[in-house]
Amino acid sequence: MFGHARASLTMPGDVPEGEAWRFGTFKDPNITQEVKFSGERRRCKHCLIYKPDRCHHCRICKSCILKMDHHCPWIMNCIGFRNHKYFFLLIIYSMLCCAFIGVTVIGTILESLEQEMPVCQRFLLLLCFSTSSIMGGLLVVFAAFHVMLMLRGLTTIEFCEKLSIVTSGKSSKYDMGAYRNITAVFGPRPYLWFLPVDPPAGDGLRFAKPRGRSLAAPRYLPHDPEWT
Ligand SMILES: [Zn+2]
Ligand SMILES: [Zn+2]
Repeated sequence: MFGHARASLTMPGDVPEGEAWRFGTFKDPNITQEVKFSGERRRCKHCLIYKPDRCHHCRICKSCILKMDHHCPWIMNCIGFRNHKYFFLLIIYSMLCCAFIGVTVIGTILESLEQEMPVCQRFLLLLCFSTSSIMGGLLVVFAAFHVMLMLRGLTTIEFCEKLSIVTSGKSSKYDMGAYRNITAVFGPRPYLWFLPVDPPAGDGLRFAKPRGRSLAAPRYLPHDPEWT
């Protein structure tokens, strides 16, 4: 909700407090490019504020989230501008954990075939292997999807809204090229990409757009049921 300060870096990012976003009194009138279908500036009817580009309202969090990616039921929080990197790190480290567990338990399972042990213990060994394999496999698919989005400069919401753009081979209007798209999520220093420090630059309110491309603002449909 507007006015509820959430400064922690693990939070997805809120629209800043103040008159500018509440009343639309921006110093820079071009601070937002995206408009509604009617051509009006985007405004959240729940928080009663104007929305920055790529910002969406989450009904579960009851808040407008900067560069909202999606609401994640696994961590019971939104994934947005400030915690997108940590979301990726969670997936990557979870994948590595599943791989480590799956690989290292194989030796014990093979040993259990040759030596006597309680049935319960054998069951737990197989359960451990199958759980880590299935979870690891699902995480690989999930990670591959999100990496694809990141490389194209898209959030999950933008992917759903602009599905036709992706399938036609074009990318997001925020696509800055693969490397800069990665730095927009993982931060500017590659040697810190896999550590939970060094968040991306910027304020989550304005986003650089590539030169030489059409800057035509996307128009949101009047009945965007979930997020606008
Ligand atoms: Zn809102
Ligand atoms: Zn949420």
